[in-house]
Amino acid sequence: MAGIASRMAGRGGTSLPGQLLARLSPDALAGLAQRVRRRSGPGLRMVVVSATNGKTTTAAMLAAMAAGAGLRVSHNLSGANLRSGIITTLMDTTRPVDLVLLEVDEATLPTVVQELQPDVVALGNLFRDQLDRYGELDTVQEAWEAMARSLPSHTQLVAVADDPRVANVAAQAPAAATWAGGGPDLPGSERLPDHADARTCDACGTQLDHAVVWVGHLGAWSCPGCGRTRPVPQVRLAGVSTADIDRQQVTITAGDDELRLELALPGLFNAYNLLLAVAVARSIDIPTSSITSGIHRFRAAFGRFERVALPDGRRLLLVLAKNPTGLSEVARTIAEVPHPPPVVLVALSDGIADGRDPSWTWDADLSPLRPHVSEVIATGTRPEEMALRLAYDGWAREAITVEEDLGSALDELLDRAADPTCVLTYTAMLELRRILRRRGWARSMWEADQPPAAASAPGPGEAP
Ligand SMILES: [Zn+2]
Repeated sequence: MAGIASRMAGRGGTSLPGQLLARLSPDALAGLAQRVRRRSGPGLRMVVVSATNGKTTTAAMLAAMAAGAGLRVSHNLSGANLRSGIITTLMDTTRPVDLVLLEVDEATLPTVVQELQPDVVALGNLFRDQLDRYGELDTVQEAWEAMARSLPSHTQLVAVADDPRVANVAAQAPAAATWAGGGPDLPGSERLPDHADARTCDACGTQLDHAVVWVGHLGAWSCPGCGRTRPVPQVRLAGVSTADIDRQQVTITAGDDELRLELALPGLFNAYNLLLAVAVARSIDIPTSSITSGIHRFRAAFGRFERVALPDGRRLLLVLAKNPTGLSEVARTIAEVPHPPPVVLVALSDGIADGRDPSWTWDADLSPLRPHVSEVIATGTRPEEMALRLAYDGWAREAITVEEDLGSALDELLDRAADPTCVLTYTAMLELRRILRRRGWARSMWEADQPPAAASAPGPGEAP
């Protein structure tokens, strides 16, 4: 009833029922998990995915692969990744399913894993994010390590070896992890970026060496002090080639298999999301053919390089960026496509879900955009701060328009841009979505966020 009331009030109803139940019954999550297991039988797999960046996209990719294999999937919608959203998802899982697939917030992960006792825990990366909510990255990492040490022996960990923090977490688990990571031929850079969040060895404190760096602090690392090195990945990202901003070819190898996958998303960080999704899919025996066909039908998750069709035929690009590494990678990705957009809207907001302190933008690297983007429209609740940040990255003040009202900023963008592109923090993304919805150009978040089981239907944002 709470869910229905919430939906009638124009909200998603993706968390309120769980919030109520969690208050009424503190053991609700474990109890619901048992109910789902009982109803679904011994074939059920429970998979939990967490990471600072990319967990929504990774989970959406996995859901597409599972749908490709004909599995019945229960999957929490993006954003509903706190305990209340997970409880709501399990409450709604009243029929037998083959796969429960949960994207879980980093801070929520340890308790959720303890209560769910999932079959697979997939760990992608740990970056600085919302210091005011999560605390320092070391705190999150320590909580993950404690979780890994107390994992039941039946739980399979699938982890990205290239992140030294994640590797250290996964190494604490009682059972050996399945490692995913960059292959020997994957091109990268030689040095860590300024915004890197892991520079020293967890064991001995020595500065890490990197043979190659791929995304943020993800790379082929080793410690010259104590000899720890990156675990050897069994599932490897062998190559990527970007066709345009909507498409890239990703090659992933595992054992004797080579998967050539067409991904409807740009950027090396999205290739990493795909890598983790493939590693998890293999661990739950989804066949290669279903992985390939599933990902072929996959469309961007809410606001993750999502396209919204405008009435005049143009397609508005919505890109979420919520922390230093995320924003840096978005800037790099937009700069590296064949025809980068010359005008970009950047919305910086300081809602609770964004982190109240917007100073994190100073740790991001926007400079790759500078040669391509001649005009920036700064908006959100902190447009002046964004404008100042951009000025320090080399944009002249005349090249920056400050517009406090997001709707007016959107109008300015649409006036000037053939290929309108918006980079937004989380609450700015929600606000822009409300504006698009009022104009009849987009569906609401929970309507747009159909599970990819219905992937043959129009993708998110493609139809009103
Ligand atoms: Zn060391």
